[in-house]
Amino acid sequence: TQKLANRVTSIRVSPSVAAAQKVRDLKAQGREILNLTVGEPDFDTPEDIKQAGIQAITEGDTKYTAVNGTEELRKGVQHDFSTRLGIDCGLDQICVGGGAKQILFVAMMATVEEDTEVIVPAPYWVSYPDMVIANGGTPVIVECGEDVGFKLTPEALEAAITPKTRWVILNSPSNPTGTAYNGDELRALAAVVKRHPHVLVMCDEIYDRIWYANFKTESILGVAPDLAEQALVVNGVSKSYAMTGWRIGYAVGPKFLIDAINKLQSQMSSCPSSISQAAAAAALLGPQKAVGKTVEVYKERRDRAYALINEIDGLSCTLPDGAFYLYPSCAGVIGKTTPEGDTIENDLDFVLYLLEQAGVASVHGGAYGLEPYFRISTATSMEVIEAACAKIAEAVANLS
Ligand code: PLP
Repeated sequence: TQKLANRVTSIRVSPSVAAAQKVRDLKAQGREILNLTVGEPDFDTPEDIKQAGIQAITEGDTKYTAVNGTEELRKGVQHDFSTRLGIDCGLDQICVGGGAKQILFVAMMATVEEDTEVIVPAPYWVSYPDMVIANGGTPVIVECGEDVGFKLTPEALEAAITPKTRWVILNSPSNPTGTAYNGDELRALAAVVKRHPHVLVMCDEIYDRIWYANFKTESILGVAPDLAEQALVVNGVSKSYAMTGWRIGYAVGPKFLIDAINKLQSQMSSCPSSISQAAAAAALLGPQKAVGKTVEVYKERRDRAYALINEIDGLSCTLPDGAFYLYPSCAGVIGKTTPEGDTIENDLDFVLYLLEQAGVASVHGGAYGLEPYFRISTATSMEVIEAACAKIAEAVANLS
């Protein structure tokens, strides 16, 4: 019989991908589903960015590029990091890959092996623990409850660090909670990392342009430049510029790590698409008007969904600082009985009940490592958000 490697058999298919598939299956059966599982902008890529991609094609910019990305794109990244976040770095400290996801994975591949631990605050983006496991390491999950704003505290970080720790992963603003760290919180976490020179911090800031908080967007490297040898800041164009299909992500970090990532990429993919790189450079160096406009729309949706969810007896939600998700608690409905006589034992039961009874698709908190919650996405129209919240309210009212 054919055998698969442990790195495959030990990981899961992404639960959000699985939830999206379930929606497609139900729709194929003719069910009308209000889909709140969406993990990508519902806007189109701005026209000027598309044109840059088209121009790359017509001008024959269609060959392999440097493994670490075109100089134009790295200059774009350098410009963005420097002007927006106060991060100053050389072009040789920037790497480019096929999405932030690929950069995160390859960074783990470059550093994680048997007997290494990676601290993953929960709730977490579903891929982090599996990326660690796929590379032979051990995820160390640190629960960060609503009482601490779903954020890792310096004390919890300090307590989780062992001699085996290689990374701590931060995601700000967070998928699934939308919570962001402010400058003081980042500085305090950076101070802990600094005290442990064997620890690196991976800061996934992919949603940092989708920002509603009344404090300024900060990056760990912007507020703690002395962490330059210990921090990898990962970002990309997917969410900010509605470019998920173009597959471009990038990172800035210490040279030893960037060189290692580039070395692996040279054997994996040679380089990301030249066309997408041209479009991503245009996105970073071009007018930023479209970003502001989409953020305004996301904010209206966030405010509306936040209000509607909090009106429902049994559900409660904190106000997200950024990204396009809400992470309501469903603690108030656990233990209740459905009209069919089934008990809602956990957040997965609740999410399945909403799907069956209300035709609303969401993802259960267990997938993100913190129960009982569920994630709803606002990367969909106001009509869908309002209709879905009305259906959720009705379904919750039918529980006894
Ligand atoms: N990081 C987080 C927290 C995400 O939610 C996502 C996408 O869902 C990614 C990274 C992946 O982004 P990219 O499209 O650049 O691979």
